[in-house]
Amino acid sequence: MRQQTSSFDDQSLWRVALDHTRDAAVIIDHDHRICFFNQAAEHIWGLASTEMIGSAADRLGLDAITLERALRPDIDVFASEHGLAIDIARPDGTAVSAELTRSTIGVDGRDYVLVTARDLTTELKRRKGIQLLTAIADRTNRAVLVTDPDLTIVYTNAAFEGLFGYSIDEAKGRNIVDLLAGQHTKLRTIASLKKWIGEYHGGEEEILVYDKHGEEIWISADVKALRNAQGDITQVFSLLTDISETRQLRMLQQLTLGALADDIPIIDVAERMCRFVEKIAPDVVCSILHVDAQGVVHPLGGPSLPDDYSRALDGHSIGPQVGSCGAAAYFGKPVLAIDLATDPRWEAFKTRPLEIGLRACWSSPIKAQDGRVIGTFAFYFRASRPPSRWHRRIVDACLHLGALAIERMEARAQINRLAYFDMLTGLPNRSRLRDLIAAATSVCPDGRTIALAFLDVDNFKDINDTLGHAAGDAFLVEFARRLRDQVEPGDVVGRLGGDEFVVVLPDRAPAEVEPIVARITEALMRPFVLCNTQVPMSASVGISLYPDNASDIDTLINQADTAMYRAKRSGRSTYRLFSNDMDGVAEQRMAHVTALRAALASNRLALHYQPQIRTADGALHGVEAMARWHDPVLGFVPPTKFIPLAEECGLIDQIACWSIREACRQMGIWRDQGLDVPSISLNLSPINFENAGLPALVAQALATHQLPPQALMLEVTEGVAQDNRSVAHETMMALRRIGVGLSLDDFGTGYSNLSRLAQLPIRELKIDRGFMSELASSPTARAVVTTVVRVGQSLALSVVAEGVETEAQFQLLSDLGCDVVQGFLYAPALAPDAFERWLLDYSACRAGAMMERIGVAAKDSPVPSRVAGSQRP
Ligand code: C2E
Ligand code: CA
Ligand code: CA
Repeated sequence: MRQQTSSFDDQSLWRVALDHTRDAAVIIDHDHRICFFNQAAEHIWGLASTEMIGSAADRLGLDAITLERALRPDIDVFASEHGLAIDIARPDGTAVSAELTRSTIGVDGRDYVLVTARDLTTELKRRKGIQLLTAIADRTNRAVLVTDPDLTIVYTNAAFEGLFGYSIDEAKGRNIVDLLAGQHTKLRTIASLKKWIGEYHGGEEEILVYDKHGEEIWISADVKALRNAQGDITQVFSLLTDISETRQLRMLQQLTLGALADDIPIIDVAERMCRFVEKIAPDVVCSILHVDAQGVVHPLGGPSLPDDYSRALDGHSIGPQVGSCGAAAYFGKPVLAIDLATDPRWEAFKTRPLEIGLRACWSSPIKAQDGRVIGTFAFYFRASRPPSRWHRRIVDACLHLGALAIERMEARAQINRLAYFDMLTGLPNRSRLRDLIAAATSVCPDGRTIALAFLDVDNFKDINDTLGHAAGDAFLVEFARRLRDQVEPGDVVGRLGGDEFVVVLPDRAPAEVEPIVARITEALMRPFVLCNTQVPMSASVGISLYPDNASDIDTLINQADTAMYRAKRSGRSTYRLFSNDMDGVAEQRMAHVTALRAALASNRLALHYQPQIRTADGALHGVEAMARWHDPVLGFVPPTKFIPLAEECGLIDQIACWSIREACRQMGIWRDQGLDVPSISLNLSPINFENAGLPALVAQALATHQLPPQALMLEVTEGVAQDNRSVAHETMMALRRIGVGLSLDDFGTGYSNLSRLAQLPIRELKIDRGFMSELASSPTARAVVTTVVRVGQSLALSVVAEGVETEAQFQLLSDLGCDVVQGFLYAPALAPDAFERWLLDYSACRAGAMMERIGVAAKDSPVPSRVAGSQRP
């Protein structure tokens, strides 16, 4: 630029003006000497004008090239938009960033150079700051969005473009709602976001929006307003995160948990999981296998794999060379076969997958809580490739869900086994036998016979008493094995309990039966070596025939039982066919009924009480009341005899009524005495729940003795209220409404439907005492107890173990997390006065043990009975 003016020296107005401009101004003459140096220049260079004027231009400290270019009027080097940025070093050691511009001024035919300099230090700092912010915003993988208060976009970062497809130029100036909202965007969520903008701390919402191509994206929007000093919103700052994946995984979880809660069969749960996974990871074919305790695989789900392929996998044992799944299960680690065609582990399995275009397989082990591998979760790929990050995320989520589903399946199978099979011999138990007999009778052709043989081991008590329980068990196992050997496929062998067995021979001609039974008795008689001793083995057998003797199952069993007694009386080791002249039993039964009725009328029944102890601290949890009957003529009759009798002859309601009143009366007395018995558990028969008047009766008994409902717990068995609409179910609900607890007795022996359990209004589970004897020796029994405890915990029920006889059992139960124990280890059921003495002793002992623990010697403490939680002597 060249300006023409008149003589420069005369222009004092120019001088004054230039001297006061904000920018530094330096004028250099044609001899390259400084002839003008204004105040701002003094400030920037840190030098006085008096020193500078007349000096050579190189005192400006510009490097040679810059100076050279500055002084050559022919090249307009500074003509760029921003001038030339340079750093000026001051004599005091500080430095200034400045922007130089230059113009040439012609005066009197001579050229002067005007150099102006602007201090850029603050400006540069600001620019750097913005650059840094943009760099950060562009680095983060969360979309950053800044809008005006009216939601007009002023800034978006690179991730925003990556997520939604709009470049900053496309987005700038648009309204954010117009840009991203679409058909299924919830207006209510937009309103919430606007509300958050108004809040000081801002807030976050999940919302469905649309990208440039109309694809749905679930995002989490975190909004916050930026405000000026007056508190007015100047801008709105939003962080947007793509949560489509997280959401999908959450949906997968909900889907699976929902299916589990609905008790949908595991095959369907697994199929649903696979289908969902294939939807969210479209390049994957998914499969789930169950690995059983023997290390054998069973396909659970794989909807996109050919059926014949899945079927062929069923029954394979896991191993280091057995495909990806077999190897993953074997090593307990994920296994990737990147090329099925060449992978040696796939040699035996590759044909089918390759045929349908699957090239790679990545399988991960599904592990139970205790670390056992219980399944595998596999991704097949159509390309020879490893899993992506997204695949890994899905699998992380699925392994946990798969474990949950398979563990549940195992627990259910275990409980089913427990419900239908005798643990010692593996034979069908009483309830399973009934089903099997019913099934046989329903298909029995006319003119044919079903024989039911009732076998009772001869002198079994002697074996138990002389050789011990373990030997007794071994004896029963062998007995069961021999029985099984003698029957044909389609025949049934079962164990009723103790030393009683049943053999059912369906579809026979009446004449065939006796020879078969004779052969069985014969085969049993081979001697058996047990504990180095030869023990004789034999049984007394009674037979009844369907339909000749009876057509209902109970009668058939009773008749066979009667015939068996005849066989016993005839010298054992023999069999008898039932005949009608054997009804002496019926007479005996009548005598018992009469006596029971009289006992009820004259109040000769009693309740005895057995303590229940909390494992955590040894405190008394409650007592269970057991009915006792001593008849002057018949002697002591056990409840296992008279309760079934009362159920048959209609006295059971009377017994329930009596026991409820009696228990409440006793509780009232204890409370008056200041004896702390938290609650009484009462046994009720399933029949009692058919009585809709039961809740009123209970309420009245409680009221009479001024007891809270928590003072009473009613024990029901699994047979009660299997149907939600039954009277029994209504009765249970009504009892719960009163506030009386219900406890599920003998759990594990009956019909246990887990989902049903969750619907029952119960508060407590009692593990059947049958499991206790085997607890120490049998892993199965332990697994069952563990399962029951876990089921209890998951349903928030307390778990009571009954029949606890030894320290070892107590310790195991306590370790497994069982809340309460009850059994001979503490005390049998005791008459009220005996129980009171026991309780006082026990409490004194506990206090003594406690004092001992805190260092105080307990004087005169009674002989310690078992004190839970205390140090053992
Ligand atoms: P249950 O409800 O399972 O009662 C537990 C039984 O186990 C009782 O037998 C008890 O004496 C016994 N027991 C307690 N601790 C141990 C132990 O550590 N080891 C062993 N081996 N057994 C132990 P009990 O008194 O013979 O009662 C048998 C069944 O009769 C009871 O089984 C219950 O179903 C029924 N029952 C008893 N009292 C009544 C009652 O008042 N009403 C009704 N409806 N049924 C009753
Ligand atoms: Ca009970
Ligand atoms: Ca029980």
